[in-house]
Amino acid sequence: DPDAGLDPLAFTVTRNLAAAAPARREEILQNPGFGVHFTDHMVDICWSVRGGWHRPRVQPYGPITLDPAAAVLHYGQEIFEGIKAYRHADGSVHTFRPDQNGRRLQRSARRLALPELPVSYFIQSLRELIAVDEPWVPSGEDQSLYLRPFMFAKEAFLGVRPANKVAYYLIASPAGAYFTGGVKPVSIWLSEDYARAGKGGTGAAKTGGNYASSLLPQAEAYENECDQVVFLDQDRNVEELGGMNVVFVYKDGTIVTPQSESILEGITRDSILQLARDRGHKVEGRGVSLEEWRSGVASGDIVEVFACGTAAVVTPIGVLKGRDFLDQQPTGDLALSLREELTDIQYGRREDKHGWLVRL
Ligand code: PMP
Repeated sequence: DPDAGLDPLAFTVTRNLAAAAPARREEILQNPGFGVHFTDHMVDICWSVRGGWHRPRVQPYGPITLDPAAAVLHYGQEIFEGIKAYRHADGSVHTFRPDQNGRRLQRSARRLALPELPVSYFIQSLRELIAVDEPWVPSGEDQSLYLRPFMFAKEAFLGVRPANKVAYYLIASPAGAYFTGGVKPVSIWLSEDYARAGKGGTGAAKTGGNYASSLLPQAEAYENECDQVVFLDQDRNVEELGGMNVVFVYKDGTIVTPQSESILEGITRDSILQLARDRGHKVEGRGVSLEEWRSGVASGDIVEVFACGTAAVVTPIGVLKGRDFLDQQPTGDLALSLREELTDIQYGRREDKHGWLVRL
């Protein structure tokens, strides 16, 4: 354990005196949407070359003051995470595999030449925020509190080199059911002109630039009446959607998911694949070409295709559309049954056999 011997941080807590009134908060929690409302507080921790991690704070949610020369605004030295807190029937609040998000934030940090926040500090930051903003965790069906940790270069310096001053923040936003009116299959646009990542690039890191570069292809998807975009690599292997991993189910029960150095390794995918293994499915991570996808669907070898990620959990893919083709995708029961098993664990309705839940 690389964090062994680390003392917990001593956070100073400044309560928000202008916190939302309980009636206003309850009104928001009735219909929170996604990513539009924020809780009353945020966490921030400073880092500098000389001082390491210091000045851990819980403070009122609000604007951040930045020098216009802050490196993040010019060179995009930034990373983030996405993880949820779930309210169980007994009122307790839990999060899901936070060690995995903490470790992924460290891998992203390494790639972006940012400092690695110890995983124990990462998990402590979630606890500190929930300690003051616990009433913001909704209790409705499929609702959660979406937690957004992020880190960026705040040093004011226009030279291109890793910043000597960095900030870690955590904000939170109540989230409703991602799909209103049930889980509907999504349509996927095949991006042929734009790539998300290249060999040796930043595809495996959760960094803002990857998402900035996905916006234009995503707009192209909308123009072609598709919900999401799927990216290929330089060898025409399937990578992932803008914010979700892709999974294929074969006729013989084998589950295949693209594996490459430029894909963001999803924690939802890892968990879903574990649940599938527990049920006796064979699971393979390997390259999957566009040709294998299309011919597998045409021949009936592929019987289900779905996408997965924290925000939408599991979503069947209904259509794959390209410049000159439209492939209807087969849909089955496995995606939705794995989705139900996973959400049952997250909401405390089913035994947590793998010890994935962490009480906040
Ligand atoms: N791929 C990308 C590009 C993503 O942004 C996400 C969301 N974090 C995922 C996959 C799914 O990851 P997770 O299951 O950990 O949310």
